Amino acid sequence: MIFLAGVTVTVLAAIYVFMPLFREPKGNIEVELLAETDLDRLLNRKAVVYSNLKDLEFEHKMGRLGEADFHRLEAGFKAEAAEILSRLDQLGAAENLDDGIEQAIAARKSQLAAGSKTGLATCPSCGADLVPGKQFCADCGRRL
Ligand SMILES: [Zn+2]
Repeated sequence: MIFLAGVTVTVLAAIYVFMPLFREPKGNIEVELLAETDLDRLLNRKAVVYSNLKDLEFEHKMGRLGEADFHRLEAGFKAEAAEILSRLDQLGAAENLDDGIEQAIAARKSQLAAGSKTGLATCPSCGADLVPGKQFCADCGRRL
């Protein structure tokens, strides 16, 4: 009887502890704001794999890791690093943050240039597309 009660309490405690893991994050703004993008995840994973590789080389140099184990583990980490790098390339992520910002600015500028060519009104202050009939710019708040 006591055993049964113990099992029940354990199961209930386990459900209570693990339930939040299975809850849908939809509709919870805080959770969505905290959620990582694919890019964040890949960059974090890349940092982990690189540091694992460094540790591995260190252990090998210190003679704490056999030749065969070292090569097997190194090949695994390098394969994962290559996979991460190719996925980062697919995401168009620039290695250099400045390059990424420059690209975003260039893309926005050409978008704006295309917009003005097609006769869309843009804000004289910030260049954002204007919604017809509005008295203020939605982006910078300038009175029009
Ligand atoms: Zn504006």
